[in-house]
Amino acid sequence: MIFTETRGNDGTRDARVSFAAALLSPISSFGGIYSPAQLSPIPADFLARHLNSTYQELALALLQHLDIDIEESVLRQALALYSRFDDANDPAPLVKIDEKLFVSELYHGPTRAFKDMALQPFGLILSDLAQRNNQQYLVLTATSGDTGPAALETFRDRANIRVACLYPDGGTSDVQRLQMVTETADNLKVIGIRGNFDDAQSALKSLLASPTFKRRLRELDISLSAANSVNFGRIIFQMLYQFHSYLSLLRQQEIELGDEVVLHIPSGNFGNALGAYYAQRLGLPLAKIVIVSNANNVLTEWIEHGRYDLSKRELIATTSPAMDILKSSNVERVLFDLFGAARTRELMQQLDDNGCYQLEADEHDRIKAVFAADFCSDEESMQFIKQAFERGYLLDPHTSTCFKTCRSAAFADQVNIIYSTAEWTKFAPVIDAAINGNRGQSDRAALASIAARANIAVPSVIAELFDKPVVHPGVVEKQDIEAEILKFLET
Ligand SMILES: *Cc1c(COP(=O)(O)O)cnc(C)c1O
Repeated sequence: MIFTETRGNDGTRDARVSFAAALLSPISSFGGIYSPAQLSPIPADFLARHLNSTYQELALALLQHLDIDIEESVLRQALALYSRFDDANDPAPLVKIDEKLFVSELYHGPTRAFKDMALQPFGLILSDLAQRNNQQYLVLTATSGDTGPAALETFRDRANIRVACLYPDGGTSDVQRLQMVTETADNLKVIGIRGNFDDAQSALKSLLASPTFKRRLRELDISLSAANSVNFGRIIFQMLYQFHSYLSLLRQQEIELGDEVVLHIPSGNFGNALGAYYAQRLGLPLAKIVIVSNANNVLTEWIEHGRYDLSKRELIATTSPAMDILKSSNVERVLFDLFGAARTRELMQQLDDNGCYQLEADEHDRIKAVFAADFCSDEESMQFIKQAFERGYLLDPHTSTCFKTCRSAAFADQVNIIYSTAEWTKFAPVIDAAINGNRGQSDRAALASIAARANIAVPSVIAELFDKPVVHPGVVEKQDIEAEILKFLET
């Protein structure tokens, strides 16, 4: 598979690169990113042949079909990391909720959120490439809560990689913060910043543009990479589990080969949704990909009206913080795939200049042919958590947003799969409020009261966090981040 630039080529770099090159250096000309130049559909008998494959066998076959420049032995080692999940052969189990509703649980990895699905194999591959090239890399990452812990976990003690992770102080749950600030490995640095997630992301962007920072990295012979979903090395592991869910439905005789299903995806940066989009492009029978948002409903407006408009919006803090995002990085890859680089560059320029772009009617039609969208308020989300709990299923406030769309008239008589992105343990106070009516509890108290009410144990990886020493206490102003990170690199 060859990758090319979403905004065209500026003459200073290669217009077409390999997977490994796009993974090591994900930013392309004019502030664009790398996307597949083309995707060839899976063979007609692919699904039938993989009916009884394990997750690893299926994933390897898909990666081989995609033809990326990573050796098979390395791919196998990367996929073997799914043995760190609760069930090694089924890292993303499909749970039946009712006649036509299924939940694919993507959170059974070490940090209990869907980010592990991609970051676990990604970390091994990046470190392997860095060692082969005999090059040191700094992975800079800004997190709204789940990417940080998963990035730290995957790169812990990995050769040739250092990670600096920025999180908004007060903008994550206690569990998420503790997962980060208790990390002990020497190659990891965690920094809290004063501000929200967009501030953390923009601080990271200005750092990447800082000439002094770049010069110092060159002197230290350290290259930069990124572990957020602009890196295709993550996206590639997010376009595999849709096939696995579909095959699970076939095995459970819920559908017949060729039947179309509807996917519902709680969305933020659009990485999970983009994976579904590519799965459909590869030939998975999907009737619709439903993009679900919270009150930050930019994506709903984009899909319903063809307008991406940030101009009158402020970020709203909700009970589903991983979806509190206004500028979803991966929308750009859909624009590129459907409309080409020249048009993508034009639209992204309008977004930068005016905070807004409007698609033409025919362009909008092509978006609507693939996607549908809606958004869910915090109050509705709490009701869905309560209703599901009363029927014996615990879910987190991101996943619960999808209960709105899958119950809507448009999809009620179709086979629906919700992608569940976090375990209940990561957002316990919201769930405690929904099911027990408790307000303002700490994570620790909320975990205990949910566990008592549901008669389940708090998983030990979560329970142990509260007794670990804090290794990274620092919270700094935006302008001090550069110095903090350089101090870490120089020691
Ligand atoms: C990251 C995340 C999302 C959003 O996923 P995107 O790929 O950024 O759209 C949703 N829910 C949870 C719990 C997450 O961690």
